[in-house]
Amino acid sequence: MQPSIYDVCIVGAGISGLSTAAFLQAAQPELQLLVLEESPDPGGAIGTYSASGYQAEWGPHGFLDNCEESRMLINMAGLDAEVTTAPLGEFVRYVCLDGRLRCIPQKPLQILKEPLIPMRAKLRVLADLWKKPLAGEPSVAQWVAHRFGNALLPFADAVYTGTYAGDIERLKIDAVMPGVRELERQHGSVIRGVIGKMRGAGRQKNVKKKELPSMISFAGGMARLPERLAAGLAATGHLVCGNGVYGLLRENEGWRVLAEQGEVCCRHLVLALPVNPCLKLLAPALPTMPPPLTAIPEARILSVLLGFDARARIPFGFGYLAPEQEQRFTLGALFSSHMFPGRAPAGHQLLEALVGGRRHPERLELTDAQLIEAVYRDLGQLMELPEPPHFTAVLRPRSGIPQLEAGYTGLLEWRKSVHAAHDQLHLCGFGWKGIGINDMTKEARQVALRIGAQSTKGEQHEVKGVYF
Ligand SMILES: Cc1cc2nc3c(=O)[nH]c(=O)nc-3n(C[C@H](O)[C@H](O)[C@H](O)COP(=O)(O)OP(=O)(O)OC[C@H]3O[C@@H](n4cnc5c(N)ncnc54)[C@H](O)[C@@H]3O)c2cc1C
Repeated sequence: MQPSIYDVCIVGAGISGLSTAAFLQAAQPELQLLVLEESPDPGGAIGTYSASGYQAEWGPHGFLDNCEESRMLINMAGLDAEVTTAPLGEFVRYVCLDGRLRCIPQKPLQILKEPLIPMRAKLRVLADLWKKPLAGEPSVAQWVAHRFGNALLPFADAVYTGTYAGDIERLKIDAVMPGVRELERQHGSVIRGVIGKMRGAGRQKNVKKKELPSMISFAGGMARLPERLAAGLAATGHLVCGNGVYGLLRENEGWRVLAEQGEVCCRHLVLALPVNPCLKLLAPALPTMPPPLTAIPEARILSVLLGFDARARIPFGFGYLAPEQEQRFTLGALFSSHMFPGRAPAGHQLLEALVGGRRHPERLELTDAQLIEAVYRDLGQLMELPEPPHFTAVLRPRSGIPQLEAGYTGLLEWRKSVHAAHDQLHLCGFGWKGIGINDMTKEARQVALRIGAQSTKGEQHEVKGVYF
Protein backbone atom coordinates (compact mmCIF):
# COMPACT_ATOMS: atom_id res chain seq x y z
CA MET A 1 0.00 0.00 0.00
CA GLN A 2 1.38 3.42 -0.98
CA PRO A 3 1.40 5.62 2.12
CA SER A 4 -0.28 9.05 2.08
CA ILE A 5 2.02 12.08 2.23
CA TYR A 6 1.41 15.11 4.46
CA ASP A 7 3.27 18.29 5.32
CA VAL A 8 2.54 17.75 9.01
CA CYS A 9 1.34 14.72 10.97
CA ILE A 10 0.28 15.33 14.58
CA VAL A 11 0.03 12.32 16.88
CA GLY A 12 -2.52 12.85 19.67
CA ALA A 13 -5.76 14.84 19.66
CA GLY A 14 -5.70 16.12 23.22
CA ILE A 15 -5.63 19.88 23.68
CA SER A 16 -1.93 19.97 22.64
CA GLY A 17 -2.48 18.27 19.29
CA LEU A 18 -5.73 20.09 18.57
CA SER A 19 -4.23 23.49 19.38
CA THR A 20 -1.13 22.83 17.29
CA ALA A 21 -3.42 21.97 14.37
CA ALA A 22 -5.57 25.07 14.95
CA PHE A 23 -2.56 27.42 15.09
CA LEU A 24 -1.06 25.81 11.98
CA GLN A 25 -4.29 26.03 10.02
CA ALA A 26 -4.78 29.65 10.97
CA ALA A 27 -1.25 30.59 9.85
CA GLN A 28 -0.91 28.29 6.83
CA PRO A 29 -4.32 27.10 5.56
CA GLU A 30 -2.63 25.49 2.54
CA LEU A 31 -0.74 22.92 4.67
CA GLN A 32 -1.57 19.24 4.18
CA LEU A 33 -2.23 18.30 7.80
CA LEU A 34 -3.34 15.12 9.57
CA VAL A 35 -4.07 14.47 13.27
CA LEU A 36 -4.08 10.83 14.42
CA GLU A 37 -5.79 9.87 17.68
CA GLU A 38 -5.88 6.41 19.21
CA SER A 39 -9.09 6.84 21.25
CA PRO A 40 -12.51 6.89 19.59
CA ASP A 41 -12.96 10.48 20.81
CA PRO A 42 -10.64 13.50 20.88
CA GLY A 43 -9.89 15.59 23.97
CA GLY A 44 -7.45 13.38 25.91
CA ALA A 45 -7.53 14.30 29.60
CA ILE A 46 -10.35 16.81 29.06
CA GLY A 47 -13.90 15.50 29.43
CA THR A 48 -17.17 16.69 30.94
CA TYR A 49 -19.58 14.47 32.92
CA SER A 50 -23.33 15.11 33.24
CA ALA A 51 -25.99 13.19 35.16
CA SER A 52 -29.22 14.04 37.01
CA GLY A 53 -28.76 17.77 36.33
CA TYR A 54 -25.20 17.83 37.76
CA GLN A 55 -22.19 18.70 35.58
CA ALA A 56 -18.64 17.84 36.61
CA GLU A 57 -15.23 17.31 35.01
CA TRP A 58 -13.17 14.16 34.42
CA GLY A 59 -9.99 16.24 34.13
CA PRO A 60 -9.36 19.98 34.18
CA HIS A 61 -12.01 22.23 35.71
CA GLY A 62 -10.75 25.40 34.12
CA PHE A 63 -7.73 27.51 33.30
CA LEU A 64 -6.65 31.08 33.95
CA ASP A 65 -7.52 33.77 31.41
CA ASN A 66 -4.02 35.30 31.51
CA CYS A 67 -2.67 33.36 28.54
CA GLU A 68 -2.75 34.92 25.08
CA GLU A 69 -2.52 31.56 23.26
CA SER A 70 -5.53 30.09 25.11
CA ARG A 71 -7.57 33.23 24.41
CA MET A 72 -6.69 32.95 20.70
CA LEU A 73 -7.75 29.33 20.74
CA ILE A 74 -11.12 30.06 22.37
CA ASN A 75 -11.71 32.62 19.66
CA MET A 76 -10.67 30.23 16.87
CA ALA A 77 -13.02 27.62 18.34
CA GLY A 78 -15.87 30.18 18.22
CA LEU A 79 -16.43 29.78 21.94
CA ASP A 80 -16.19 33.39 23.17
CA ALA A 81 -19.92 33.52 23.91
CA GLU A 82 -19.83 30.29 25.95
CA VAL A 83 -17.04 31.33 28.34
CA THR A 84 -17.92 31.37 32.03
CA THR A 85 -15.56 33.06 34.48
CA ALA A 86 -14.77 32.95 38.17
CA PRO A 87 -12.45 35.89 39.03
CA LEU A 88 -9.67 35.04 41.49
CA GLY A 89 -10.14 38.47 43.07
CA GLU A 90 -13.74 37.70 44.10
CA PHE A 91 -13.51 34.01 44.92
CA VAL A 92 -11.50 32.76 47.87
CA ARG A 93 -9.74 29.46 48.51
CA TYR A 94 -9.26 27.67 51.76
CA VAL A 95 -6.49 25.56 53.20
CA CYS A 96 -7.30 23.03 55.90
CA LEU A 97 -5.07 23.86 58.88
CA ASP A 98 -5.44 22.24 62.31
CA GLY A 99 -8.67 20.59 61.23
CA ARG A 100 -10.52 23.67 60.01
CA LEU A 101 -10.83 25.65 56.80
CA ARG A 102 -8.78 28.85 56.77
CA CYS A 103 -9.34 31.46 54.08
CA ILE A 104 -6.12 32.09 52.11
CA PRO A 105 -5.26 35.29 50.26
CA GLN A 106 -4.72 34.73 46.52
CA LYS A 107 -1.26 36.33 46.52
CA PRO A 108 1.41 34.32 48.38
CA LEU A 109 3.07 37.39 49.93
CA GLN A 110 -0.26 38.47 51.46
CA ILE A 111 -0.16 35.30 53.55
CA LEU A 112 2.43 37.15 55.61
CA LYS A 113 -0.09 39.88 56.48
CA GLU A 114 -2.67 37.39 57.78
CA PRO A 115 -2.56 35.77 61.22
CA LEU A 116 -1.90 32.37 59.63
CA ILE A 117 1.67 31.87 60.85
CA PRO A 118 3.46 33.18 63.99
CA MET A 119 5.44 36.46 63.87
CA ARG A 120 8.77 34.57 64.24
CA ALA A 121 7.96 32.53 61.15
CA LYS A 122 7.06 35.71 59.25
CA LEU A 123 10.46 37.22 60.10
CA ARG A 124 12.15 33.98 59.01
CA VAL A 125 10.79 34.55 55.49
CA LEU A 126 13.13 37.57 55.23
CA ALA A 127 16.13 35.21 55.51
CA ASP A 128 15.54 34.70 51.78
CA LEU A 129 17.40 38.01 51.32
CA TRP A 130 20.75 36.48 52.29
CA LYS A 131 20.30 32.68 51.86
CA LYS A 132 22.60 31.30 49.12
CA PRO A 133 20.84 29.36 46.32
CA LEU A 134 20.75 25.61 47.06
CA ALA A 135 22.98 23.65 44.68
CA GLY A 136 21.94 20.45 42.90
CA GLU A 137 18.36 19.39 42.33
CA PRO A 138 16.50 20.30 45.55
CA SER A 139 12.92 19.22 46.11
CA VAL A 140 10.21 21.87 46.48
CA ALA A 141 10.08 21.12 50.23
CA GLN A 142 13.87 21.48 50.69
CA TRP A 143 13.90 24.71 48.72
CA VAL A 144 10.92 26.33 50.52
CA ALA A 145 12.31 25.34 53.94
CA HIS A 146 15.76 26.71 53.03
CA ARG A 147 14.61 30.04 51.63
CA PHE A 148 11.50 30.84 53.67
CA GLY A 149 11.39 28.44 56.63
CA ASN A 150 9.32 25.41 57.60
CA ALA A 151 6.19 27.42 58.43
CA LEU A 152 5.45 27.94 54.73
CA LEU A 153 5.62 24.22 53.91
CA PRO A 154 1.87 23.52 54.39
CA PHE A 155 1.06 26.34 51.94
CA ALA A 156 3.54 25.03 49.36
CA ASP A 157 2.09 21.57 49.92
CA ALA A 158 -1.42 22.91 49.23
CA VAL A 159 -0.27 24.61 45.98
CA TYR A 160 1.37 21.43 44.62
CA THR A 161 -1.44 19.18 45.82
CA GLY A 162 -3.86 21.42 43.92
CA THR A 163 -1.85 21.49 40.70
CA TYR A 164 0.18 18.25 40.48
CA ALA A 165 -1.59 16.08 43.10
CA GLY A 166 2.09 15.77 43.89
CA ASP A 167 4.46 15.30 46.80
CA ILE A 168 6.63 18.35 47.57
CA GLU A 169 9.31 16.04 48.99
CA ARG A 170 9.71 14.57 45.47
CA LEU A 171 8.79 17.36 43.02
CA LYS A 172 11.91 19.31 42.00
CA ILE A 173 11.88 23.09 42.27
CA ASP A 174 13.95 23.52 39.08
CA ALA A 175 11.32 21.55 37.18
CA VAL A 176 8.14 23.13 38.54
CA MET A 177 9.38 26.74 39.02
CA PRO A 178 12.30 27.28 36.62
CA GLY A 179 11.51 31.01 36.36
CA VAL A 180 11.67 31.54 40.13
CA ARG A 181 14.94 29.56 40.34
CA GLU A 182 16.36 31.87 37.67
CA LEU A 183 15.30 34.95 39.69
CA GLU A 184 16.96 33.42 42.74
CA ARG A 185 20.23 32.88 40.84
CA GLN A 186 20.23 36.30 39.19
CA HIS A 187 19.36 38.37 42.27
CA GLY A 188 20.60 36.09 45.07
CA SER A 189 17.10 36.21 46.59
CA VAL A 190 13.55 35.59 45.41
CA ILE A 191 12.17 38.62 47.25
CA ARG A 192 14.82 40.90 45.68
CA GLY A 193 14.14 39.35 42.28
CA VAL A 194 10.38 39.87 42.51
CA ILE A 195 10.82 43.49 43.67
CA GLY A 196 13.28 44.10 40.80
CA LYS A 197 10.81 42.69 38.30
CA MET A 198 7.98 44.81 39.70
CA ARG A 199 10.15 47.96 39.53
CA GLY A 200 11.16 47.10 35.95
CA ALA A 201 7.51 46.68 34.97
CA GLY A 202 6.60 49.94 36.75
CA ARG A 203 9.22 51.84 34.73
CA GLN A 204 7.67 50.72 31.45
CA LYS A 205 5.18 53.24 30.10
CA ASN A 206 1.54 52.23 29.55
CA VAL A 207 1.91 49.00 31.55
CA LYS A 208 -1.36 48.44 33.37
CA LYS A 209 -1.22 47.25 36.97
CA LYS A 210 -1.65 43.47 36.86
CA GLU A 211 -5.11 42.42 37.97
CA LEU A 212 -5.68 38.95 39.36
CA PRO A 213 -6.78 36.66 36.53
CA SER A 214 -10.06 34.73 36.31
CA MET A 215 -10.59 30.99 36.15
CA ILE A 216 -12.49 30.16 32.99
CA SER A 217 -14.56 27.30 31.68
CA PHE A 218 -17.52 26.97 29.31
CA ALA A 219 -21.25 26.73 29.91
CA GLY A 220 -21.25 23.16 28.60
CA GLY A 221 -18.08 22.28 30.51
CA MET A 222 -14.43 21.96 29.53
CA ALA A 223 -15.17 19.36 26.84
CA ARG A 224 -16.55 22.14 24.63
CA LEU A 225 -13.03 23.32 23.76
CA PRO A 226 -11.65 20.07 22.28
CA GLU A 227 -15.10 19.26 20.85
CA ARG A 228 -15.21 22.47 18.83
CA LEU A 229 -11.57 22.32 17.74
CA ALA A 230 -11.95 18.68 16.69
CA ALA A 231 -15.23 19.25 14.83
CA GLY A 232 -13.56 21.71 12.46
CA LEU A 233 -10.69 19.30 11.76
CA ALA A 234 -12.87 16.19 11.38
CA ALA A 235 -15.23 17.93 8.95
CA THR A 236 -12.33 18.51 6.55
CA GLY A 237 -10.82 15.03 7.01
CA HIS A 238 -7.83 16.39 8.97
CA LEU A 239 -8.55 14.30 12.09
CA VAL A 240 -8.84 10.52 12.31
CA CYS A 241 -9.84 9.02 15.68
CA GLY A 242 -9.51 5.35 16.63
CA ASN A 243 -6.21 5.23 14.73
CA GLY A 244 -3.35 4.76 17.20
CA VAL A 245 0.27 5.16 16.15
CA TYR A 246 2.52 2.23 17.09
CA GLY A 247 5.79 3.00 15.30
CA LEU A 248 7.92 5.75 13.74
CA LEU A 249 10.64 5.51 11.10
CA ARG A 250 13.10 8.25 10.18
CA GLU A 251 13.29 8.76 6.41
CA ASN A 252 15.34 11.05 4.15
CA GLU A 253 12.51 13.47 3.52
CA GLY A 254 10.87 13.30 6.94
CA TRP A 255 9.06 10.58 8.88
CA ARG A 256 7.03 7.46 8.22
CA VAL A 257 4.27 7.00 10.80
CA LEU A 258 2.95 3.48 11.37
CA ALA A 259 -0.68 3.67 12.46
CA GLU A 260 -3.36 1.02 13.01
CA GLN A 261 -5.20 2.01 9.83
CA GLY A 262 -2.12 2.30 7.61
CA GLU A 263 1.08 4.27 7.07
CA VAL A 264 1.49 8.00 6.69
CA CYS A 265 4.55 9.89 5.43
CA CYS A 266 5.13 13.43 6.59
CA ARG A 267 7.73 16.15 6.49
CA HIS A 268 7.06 17.45 10.02
CA LEU A 269 6.11 15.08 12.81
CA VAL A 270 4.51 16.48 15.98
CA LEU A 271 4.22 14.14 18.95
CA ALA A 272 1.56 15.94 21.02
CA LEU A 273 1.58 13.33 23.75
CA PRO A 274 2.16 13.09 27.50
CA VAL A 275 5.84 12.45 28.31
CA ASN A 276 5.51 8.68 28.86
CA PRO A 277 3.69 7.63 25.65
CA CYS A 278 5.98 10.04 23.77
CA LEU A 279 9.15 8.37 25.13
CA LYS A 280 7.71 4.90 24.45
CA LEU A 281 6.98 5.74 20.82
CA LEU A 282 10.08 7.80 20.08
CA ALA A 283 12.92 5.98 21.89
CA PRO A 284 13.08 3.04 19.38
CA ALA A 285 13.09 5.54 16.47
CA LEU A 286 16.13 7.43 17.84
CA PRO A 287 18.55 4.62 18.81
CA THR A 288 21.56 6.97 18.87
CA MET A 289 19.88 9.44 21.25
CA PRO A 290 18.48 7.39 24.14
CA PRO A 291 16.48 9.50 26.64
CA PRO A 292 17.99 9.75 30.15
CA LEU A 293 14.75 8.31 31.62
CA THR A 294 12.45 5.72 30.09
CA ALA A 295 9.43 7.08 31.98
CA ILE A 296 8.48 9.60 34.66
CA PRO A 297 6.10 8.96 37.59
CA GLU A 298 2.45 9.94 37.25
CA ALA A 299 -0.06 10.80 39.99
CA ARG A 300 -3.59 9.51 39.59
CA ILE A 301 -6.60 11.02 41.25
CA LEU A 302 -10.31 10.32 41.28
CA SER A 303 -13.23 12.60 42.04
CA VAL A 304 -16.09 11.85 44.36
CA LEU A 305 -19.12 13.96 43.46
CA LEU A 306 -21.51 14.88 46.24
CA GLY A 307 -24.71 16.81 45.45
CA PHE A 308 -26.73 18.48 48.21
CA ASP A 309 -29.81 20.60 48.55
CA ALA A 310 -29.70 24.18 49.86
CA ARG A 311 -29.23 22.99 53.48
CA ALA A 312 -25.53 22.22 52.88
CA ARG A 313 -23.38 25.03 54.35
CA ILE A 314 -20.60 25.08 51.77
CA PRO A 315 -18.36 28.13 52.33
CA PHE A 316 -18.28 30.58 49.42
CA GLY A 317 -15.26 30.19 47.15
CA PHE A 318 -13.37 27.89 44.79
CA GLY A 319 -12.74 25.13 47.28
CA TYR A 320 -10.10 23.93 49.71
CA LEU A 321 -6.87 21.93 49.80
CA ALA A 322 -5.53 19.83 52.66
CA PRO A 323 -1.73 19.59 53.17
CA GLU A 324 -0.46 16.09 53.98
CA GLN A 325 0.36 17.03 57.59
CA GLU A 326 -3.42 17.26 58.23
CA GLN A 327 -3.68 13.49 57.61
CA ARG A 328 -7.08 13.72 55.93
CA PHE A 329 -8.62 11.25 53.50
CA THR A 330 -9.49 13.85 50.85
CA LEU A 331 -6.82 15.93 49.07
CA GLY A 332 -9.30 18.80 48.77
CA ALA A 333 -12.60 19.67 47.16
CA LEU A 334 -13.93 22.06 44.55
CA PHE A 335 -17.05 24.00 45.43
CA SER A 336 -18.11 23.57 41.81
CA SER A 337 -21.58 25.12 41.94
CA HIS A 338 -20.07 28.30 43.44
CA MET A 339 -17.42 28.53 40.73
CA PHE A 340 -19.54 28.21 37.60
CA PRO A 341 -23.30 28.35 36.96
CA GLY A 342 -25.24 25.27 35.85
CA ARG A 343 -23.18 22.69 37.75
CA ALA A 344 -26.13 21.54 39.89
CA PRO A 345 -29.94 21.48 39.50
CA ALA A 346 -31.82 24.55 40.79
CA GLY A 347 -31.69 24.78 44.59
CA HIS A 348 -28.80 22.30 44.78
CA GLN A 349 -25.03 22.41 45.19
CA LEU A 350 -22.14 20.27 43.96
CA LEU A 351 -18.86 19.36 45.65
CA GLU A 352 -16.11 17.56 43.70
CA ALA A 353 -13.70 15.94 46.15
CA LEU A 354 -10.27 14.74 45.01
CA VAL A 355 -8.72 11.52 46.32
CA GLY A 356 -5.40 9.70 45.76
CA GLY A 357 -2.52 11.64 44.24
CA ARG A 358 1.19 10.82 44.40
CA ARG A 359 1.10 10.02 48.10
CA HIS A 360 -2.04 7.87 48.30
CA PRO A 361 -2.43 5.65 45.21
CA GLU A 362 -3.82 2.88 47.47
CA ARG A 363 -7.03 4.89 47.97
CA LEU A 364 -7.82 4.55 44.27
CA GLU A 365 -8.40 0.82 44.87
CA LEU A 366 -11.38 1.41 47.19
CA THR A 367 -14.91 0.71 45.99
CA ASP A 368 -17.25 3.56 45.08
CA ALA A 369 -19.30 2.99 48.25
CA GLN A 370 -16.17 3.09 50.47
CA LEU A 371 -14.96 6.27 48.77
CA ILE A 372 -18.29 8.07 49.05
CA GLU A 373 -18.56 7.20 52.73
CA ALA A 374 -14.97 8.24 53.55
CA VAL A 375 -15.25 11.53 51.66
CA TYR A 376 -18.65 12.36 53.13
CA ARG A 377 -17.29 11.74 56.66
CA ASP A 378 -14.16 13.81 55.99
CA LEU A 379 -15.96 16.80 54.44
CA GLY A 380 -18.70 16.61 57.08
CA GLN A 381 -16.06 17.51 59.71
CA LEU A 382 -15.17 20.69 57.79
CA MET A 383 -18.63 21.98 56.86
CA GLU A 384 -22.27 21.30 57.68
CA LEU A 385 -23.63 18.72 55.21
CA PRO A 386 -27.12 17.18 55.33
CA GLU A 387 -27.44 13.40 55.24
CA PRO A 388 -27.69 11.63 52.88
CA PRO A 389 -26.30 13.46 49.81
CA HIS A 390 -28.90 14.09 47.10
CA PHE A 391 -26.50 12.77 44.46
CA THR A 392 -23.27 10.77 44.45
CA ALA A 393 -20.89 9.52 41.75
CA VAL A 394 -17.24 8.50 41.48
CA LEU A 395 -15.20 9.52 38.42
CA ARG A 396 -11.98 7.60 37.78
CA PRO A 397 -10.05 9.46 35.04
CA ARG A 398 -7.71 7.44 32.80
CA SER A 399 -5.04 10.14 32.64
CA GLY A 400 -2.37 10.50 35.29
CA ILE A 401 -0.63 13.80 36.04
CA PRO A 402 3.09 13.75 35.08
CA GLN A 403 5.35 14.35 38.08
CA LEU A 404 8.40 16.52 37.52
CA GLU A 405 10.76 14.73 39.89
CA ALA A 406 14.41 13.54 39.93
CA GLY A 407 15.99 13.54 36.47
CA TYR A 408 13.24 15.58 34.83
CA THR A 409 15.43 18.59 34.02
CA GLY A 410 17.86 16.18 32.27
CA LEU A 411 14.93 14.93 30.21
CA LEU A 412 14.10 18.50 29.15
CA GLU A 413 17.73 18.95 28.06
CA TRP A 414 17.38 15.75 26.04
CA ARG A 415 14.29 17.16 24.34
CA LYS A 416 16.28 20.28 23.46
CA SER A 417 19.01 18.18 21.86
CA VAL A 418 16.42 16.13 19.95
CA HIS A 419 14.91 19.34 18.57
CA ALA A 420 18.39 20.61 17.63
CA ALA A 421 19.26 17.37 15.83
CA HIS A 422 15.88 16.92 14.11
CA ASP A 423 14.30 20.15 12.96
CA GLN A 424 11.28 18.31 11.54
CA LEU A 425 10.44 16.57 14.82
CA HIS A 426 8.46 18.43 17.49
CA LEU A 427 7.68 17.17 20.99
CA CYS A 428 5.00 18.88 23.06
CA GLY A 429 2.22 17.82 25.39
CA PHE A 430 1.31 16.90 28.94
CA GLY A 431 4.39 17.11 31.18
CA TRP A 432 6.78 18.65 28.66
CA LYS A 433 7.50 22.05 30.14
CA GLY A 434 4.46 22.30 32.36
CA ILE A 435 1.24 20.47 33.05
CA GLY A 436 -1.56 23.05 32.74
CA ILE A 437 -3.74 23.81 29.73
CA ASN A 438 -2.10 27.22 29.29
CA ASP A 439 1.33 25.53 29.20
CA MET A 440 0.00 23.22 26.46
CA THR A 441 -1.42 26.00 24.29
CA LYS A 442 1.79 28.06 24.62
CA GLU A 443 3.92 25.12 23.53
CA ALA A 444 1.49 24.31 20.70
CA ARG A 445 1.86 27.81 19.31
CA GLN A 446 5.64 27.56 19.56
CA VAL A 447 5.51 24.32 17.56
CA ALA A 448 3.30 25.95 14.93
CA LEU A 449 5.70 28.90 14.69
CA ARG A 450 8.72 26.59 14.42
CA ILE A 451 7.04 24.65 11.64
CA GLY A 452 6.14 27.90 9.93
CA ALA A 453 9.83 28.82 10.27
CA GLN A 454 8.79 32.03 11.97
CA SER A 455 10.77 33.52 14.85
CA THR A 456 9.94 32.05 18.26
CA LYS A 457 10.09 33.53 21.71
CA GLY A 458 13.05 31.26 22.47
CA GLU A 459 13.45 29.03 25.50
CA GLN A 460 13.11 31.66 28.23
CA HIS A 461 11.56 30.60 31.50
CA GLU A 462 8.67 32.80 32.55
CA VAL A 463 7.96 33.50 36.20
CA LYS A 464 4.51 32.05 36.74
CA GLY A 465 2.14 33.38 39.37
CA VAL A 466 1.26 31.11 42.28
CA TYR A 467 -2.46 31.15 42.97
CA PHE A 468 -4.22 29.09 45.62
C1 LIG B 1 -7.32 14.82 36.68
C2 LIG B 1 -6.71 15.98 35.98
C3 LIG B 1 -7.04 17.27 36.36
C4 LIG B 1 -6.49 18.37 35.69
N1 LIG B 1 -6.86 19.63 36.07
C5 LIG B 1 -6.37 20.71 35.38
C6 LIG B 1 -6.86 22.02 35.64
O1 LIG B 1 -7.76 22.21 36.47
N2 LIG B 1 -6.36 23.05 34.91
C7 LIG B 1 -5.41 22.87 33.93
O2 LIG B 1 -4.97 23.84 33.30
N3 LIG B 1 -4.95 21.63 33.65
C8 LIG B 1 -5.41 20.55 34.33
N4 LIG B 1 -5.00 19.29 34.01
C9 LIG B 1 -3.98 19.15 32.96
C10 LIG B 1 -4.60 19.20 31.55
O3 LIG B 1 -5.65 18.29 31.48
C11 LIG B 1 -3.49 18.85 30.56
O4 LIG B 1 -2.54 19.91 30.55
C12 LIG B 1 -3.95 18.67 29.12
O5 LIG B 1 -5.21 18.10 29.00
C13 LIG B 1 -2.91 17.82 28.39
O6 LIG B 1 -3.24 17.77 27.04
P1 LIG B 1 -2.37 16.94 26.00
O7 LIG B 1 -3.04 17.05 24.71
O8 LIG B 1 -0.96 17.36 26.09
O9 LIG B 1 -2.39 15.44 26.54
P2 LIG B 1 -3.65 14.44 26.61
O10 LIG B 1 -4.85 15.17 27.05
O11 LIG B 1 -3.17 13.30 27.40
O12 LIG B 1 -3.83 14.03 25.10
C14 LIG B 1 -2.97 13.14 24.45
C15 LIG B 1 -3.79 12.39 23.41
O13 LIG B 1 -2.91 11.52 22.70
C16 LIG B 1 -3.57 10.28 22.47
N5 LIG B 1 -2.55 9.25 22.25
C17 LIG B 1 -1.71 8.70 23.17
N6 LIG B 1 -0.91 7.80 22.56
C18 LIG B 1 -1.24 7.80 21.25
C19 LIG B 1 -0.76 7.08 20.13
N7 LIG B 1 0.24 6.19 20.22
N8 LIG B 1 -1.33 7.30 18.92
C20 LIG B 1 -2.35 8.22 18.77
N9 LIG B 1 -2.83 8.92 19.83
C21 LIG B 1 -2.28 8.72 21.05
C22 LIG B 1 -4.38 10.08 23.73
O14 LIG B 1 -5.44 9.16 23.52
C23 LIG B 1 -4.87 11.49 24.01
O15 LIG B 1 -6.10 11.76 23.39
C24 LIG B 1 -5.55 18.17 34.65
C25 LIG B 1 -5.21 16.87 34.26
C26 LIG B 1 -5.78 15.78 34.91
C27 LIG B 1 -5.43 14.39 34.48
